[in-house]
Amino acid sequence: MADAALSISCGKHGSRVAAVVCCHHLANAGRPAGFVENSEDPSDLQAWCDTCEQVYLAQGGKTEEFRKFNNMTIVCDLCYIALKSHHSLR
Ligand SMILES: [Zn+2]
Ligand SMILES: [Zn+2]
Repeated sequence: MADAALSISCGKHGSRVAAVVCCHHLANAGRPAGFVENSEDPSDLQAWCDTCEQVYLAQGGKTEEFRKFNNMTIVCDLCYIALKSHHSLR
């Protein structure tokens, strides 16, 4: 898995800790897509949307098809938190 100390340069926030979301979180900026966090380690920020979760469950894991659908995107931790508050349905 990714190193917890991995950092990225965010266009908005500068040098930050890296986090992972699915492509739908970025594409569906106007409408909440769900926000399923899938890491037990709170310092390891990873999430995908409800549709990705359905594909994940249907596929029974991180298959090639799932990875293509998910198309994970690296964002910074602050962007992750902003996406989380936008997309959380609960
Ligand atoms: Zn998704
Ligand atoms: Zn950012």
